[in-house]
Amino acid sequence: MNDLTPPPRFLDTGLLRLRTRFVAWVALCAMLGVVGIASASANGRSHNEFPVATDAKLEQAGDTVRLTMALSRPVEVAASVLAGPDRVVIDLPSINFQVQPAAARRSGGVVGAFRFGLFTADKARIIIDLTQPAIVVRAESRPLRGGFGELVIELRKATRAEFQAAVAKTSSRGTEGDSAISGPNPSPGPVAAAQAASGDRRQTIVIDPGHGGIDPGAVVASIAEKSVVLAFGTKLKEQLEAGGRHRVLMTREDDRFVPLAERVAIARAAGADLFISIHADSLAQAQDVRGATVYTASERATDAEAARLAAKENQADSVAGLDTSEDTQDVAGILMDLAKRETRTFSAVFARNLVEKLGGSVKMHKVPLRSAGFRVLSAPDVPSVLIELGYMSSPKDAELLNSAQWRAQAVEAVAAAVEGYFVSARAPAGKAAENRR
Ligand SMILES: [Zn+2]
Repeated sequence: MNDLTPPPRFLDTGLLRLRTRFVAWVALCAMLGVVGIASASANGRSHNEFPVATDAKLEQAGDTVRLTMALSRPVEVAASVLAGPDRVVIDLPSINFQVQPAAARRSGGVVGAFRFGLFTADKARIIIDLTQPAIVVRAESRPLRGGFGELVIELRKATRAEFQAAVAKTSSRGTEGDSAISGPNPSPGPVAAAQAASGDRRQTIVIDPGHGGIDPGAVVASIAEKSVVLAFGTKLKEQLEAGGRHRVLMTREDDRFVPLAERVAIARAAGADLFISIHADSLAQAQDVRGATVYTASERATDAEAARLAAKENQADSVAGLDTSEDTQDVAGILMDLAKRETRTFSAVFARNLVEKLGGSVKMHKVPLRSAGFRVLSAPDVPSVLIELGYMSSPKDAELLNSAQWRAQAVEAVAAAVEGYFVSARAPAGKAAENRR
């Protein structure tokens, strides 16, 4: 691949945003990627069939920055630009990225950093963060001899007006799924928005299976948390819909990555009366810790373990390759919003209901009701709880989490808690809408 080495006039600039933790996560992701693909292989494709990308280079010459990657074969490339934060999105078919994570932290000229990864089972993305306005002057994969290809993305520094014009062109074209990786300013999924507008008076429940796509969550003995919680969420949806009294939406219904902010946005856009996030934790050092736990959001964690867990779950976006450095500054603001006392009260009422009903049918953690600063529970107007179904690190819990019988029992209990909550504690639908500004 040395013949792809760019001319020396392009300068590699130094590393930026060097964060050991992030490196560790990316490395972990790369290792666990195999698991993700394994469970996403329902469509019958193997990782090996994807085109392979290697040898990422970022070079700068004057006002132009060029990102290149060597490809095992040419692919279709689509580029778009998004504002707030300003970035360039490169859409590609699924690609097996064999690119050193360190390469993606390079910055130069208008580029602050870039990231890449599988986005859904059949889509990959490269996101380029801009430090100043720029437009895409070239985005293609050019064929090389021997059937190989080279991905070439060229950006040129632009005026704010030029950049805005390019953004407008992107949004008028409607880039499907952009919100899914945009981090801040997420827009709700089309399903949620359409149903919210229908004037349906049933209570709306949003079920949020944690992780997904390039973020597997906890992985123990080749079982990924993302699969366990999706199976649970899907059953819970069926159960809740069976009664006919609830409208149930899911933040994801398949193995895809959804940023934390978008999960919250889906619930808010749907005018949800309840948001239930589903997880299954693991503890490396304590195989004997087990049982289900119900969490609500609070500025101060109830205990060190809750704080540790929230920190881990809050990492989901960076695990998937999103830059969350801007987000972290929002945390204070988000948690201020939690002061919306009513929402907090309702969350607590539902959480107590859950502990009571779940406790009647499955094993609970010794401290089953706790709180910490979970980003995914940050909607100021939607009562939200997070259920850790159990510990995948506990052999006993892991067995239960994969048992259809246990799942049915636990789903039944959660559904009963939902019913109980709406009957006793909560005014019917419309309450959440009133809270909304
Ligand atoms: Zn999780």
